Amino acid sequence: MSETVMISACLLGLNTRYDGDHNLSKSIIEYIRAEKLTVIPICPEQLAGLPTPRGKAWFAEGDGQTIIDGHGKIIDQSGATMDQHFLAGAGMCLQIAQLNRTKRAILKQNSPSCGTAAVYHGRQKVPGMGVTAALLKKHKIRLLSEDDFPSD
Ligand code: SF4
Repeated sequence: MSETVMISACLLGLNTRYDGDHNLSKSIIEYIRAEKLTVIPICPEQLAGLPTPRGKAWFAEGDGQTIIDGHGKIIDQSGATMDQHFLAGAGMCLQIAQLNRTKRAILKQNSPSCGTAAVYHGRQKVPGMGVTAALLKKHKIRLLSEDDFPSD
């Protein structure tokens, strides 16, 4: 069996984003075809049971790493605290990775779930990781994002 790679579903062109849109990356599609990788699409926020479309969410405090450590805070545009939803989605993605012995993930940059190097505090982009990205990294899964591939 070929190597598995988990990929944020929105990067594959699936309409999983909070606003019902996607972030298709043709260069990622070309890469997974060329490398003959077995793709496991994941959307932590859908796996957590959140609807699509759903309210936009961002970090009010900290980032994914601090949420995992029991600090930090994610809110959505209604002001609701979303920490438990984002932790639940991250936990399900980790379970999927472990069941499939997946060593790599390609995740959508800047997302409060999937961001690998940057996230939002309100409208401000800041260095940090999404909750799923931080949990996968903690479990030694190598993270890439669309920033590691040529832009379409
Ligand atoms: Fe894409 Fe991740 Fe947001 Fe789902 S949670 S829409 S996979 S960035």
